[in-house]
Amino acid sequence: MKKPFTLLVVDDEKQNRTLLTELLQDDYQIILAKNGVQALERAQSHLPDLILLDVLMPEMDGLAVIRALKSADATRHIPVIFVSALDTPDDEERGLDLGAVDYVAKPFHPPIVRARVRNHLQAVHQRRLLEQLALIDSLTEIPNRRRFTEVYEREWRRCMRNQRPLSLIMLDVDLFKRYNDTYGHAAGDAVLKRVAAAIQSALKRPADFVARFGGEEFVVVLPDIDAASGWQVAEKIRLAVENERIPYPESDAGPWLTVSLGGATQVPHGAEVDANLFDEADRYLYEAKASGRNHSVWSPATDPSTSVAA
Ligand code: GH3
Ligand code: MG
Ligand code: MG
Repeated sequence: MKKPFTLLVVDDEKQNRTLLTELLQDDYQIILAKNGVQALERAQSHLPDLILLDVLMPEMDGLAVIRALKSADATRHIPVIFVSALDTPDDEERGLDLGAVDYVAKPFHPPIVRARVRNHLQAVHQRRLLEQLALIDSLTEIPNRRRFTEVYEREWRRCMRNQRPLSLIMLDVDLFKRYNDTYGHAAGDAVLKRVAAAIQSALKRPADFVARFGGEEFVVVLPDIDAASGWQVAEKIRLAVENERIPYPESDAGPWLTVSLGGATQVPHGAEVDANLFDEADRYLYEAKASGRNHSVWSPATDPSTSVAA
């Protein structure tokens, strides 16, 4: 079984490295460093979940290492436990002041080191769960708008670097207010879950991404997809929702519940992520609504008149 956490053990004395490795290797992936420079290198390249750091080392000592770790964005959040032969309260205070989460005096009592490591990793685990939860929409259990913003910026930059097209779809449930008024809010909630699942089922590539944008609106990011292919994906999504056959005879576009989609494509340019693509997709969503709903309309590169009716 792959071990879920990686520990970086930093100590200039081989005996200590061996001792700590033997103590922890059954539960964790262990990386070793024998001096400060190596510690910083390995922290940067492996981004361990926790660092056990010796204080007294020649050249670059543990205090200098933690200062460097805390001054770099990539490593500042990694918890550091000092393991040190300096055992006065002043030493401990100085270590904790520099941002260490804990301080263990040498010679250490092995079960205590193991317990402290476990406790701090438990906190790491809980923090990550919270971070993930903050990016998931609680009703539909798909990514939320905050997560969309992160993904969109990342993919925008990636497509800009590679000069590849980036496609974006805005999707809105048709006449959803009437659905709620007719069947009740709880039934409406259940529909939103099914729509989210249907959109997801229509997306096949790992890079394709859907988020709940808010209310009954969803947004789809399609990296590396041109307008013609993007429009096909939009149609696939539209049909996937219609094929859920959620009864809605009161809808003008019925008898099933339907969605409208607007899409746009761009090869990103310029240094900053811009809102253009997004505004464009939104404009075509509006057109899809105006042309009777249950439609996918893409930017002019694709002729909307070729839109297939269900
Ligand atoms: P259109 O086809 O033009 O989009 O019409 P619409 O009725 O869908 O548009 P409108 O923006 O007027 O109404 C959106 C409705 O979506 C209103 C709101 O009650 C409903 N809605 C938004 N979020 C939720 C939700 O989380 N749960 C439920 N049940 N309804 C929601
Ligand atoms: Mg809406
Ligand atoms: Mg709507």
